[in-house]
Amino acid sequence: MGDTIFGKIVRREIPADIVYENDDVLAFKDLNPQAPVHVLFVPKRALATLNEATSADAELLGKLMLAAADYAKAQGFDKDGYRVVVNCNEHGGQTVFHLHLHLLAGRRMHWPPG
Ligand code: IMP
Repeated sequence: MGDTIFGKIVRREIPADIVYENDDVLAFKDLNPQAPVHVLFVPKRALATLNEATSADAELLGKLMLAAADYAKAQGFDKDGYRVVVNCNEHGGQTVFHLHLHLLAGRRMHWPPG
């Protein structure tokens, strides 16, 4: 597990507002929300960025996406819709180097993103 703030959250070394968990994925509210709903889905087995993912990680990446979709449906965000985002490295806007998926909901999203 990478030694980032998200690794510490997964290990329960620092607090987070956890909203969803299964064997492979933990999800918690973003500290600086960009929408009425902003939840981060992180694999418990860390990859730094999407660039590190290989075919060996295909199942884990699928589980990450499905966890977000399961949570969105359970919360009723599927009706109006929602956005899922992965930022990668500097130009992608990544600041925490433990791969994570942003789930944004609760308002109409803009396109293209800034
Ligand atoms: P990134 O920019 O795609 O790497 O996303 C990192 C996200 O983590 C940002 O939206 C931050 O607001 C969020 N964040 C940073 N530290 C914490 C924390 O301790 N708890 C919850 N969210 C955090």
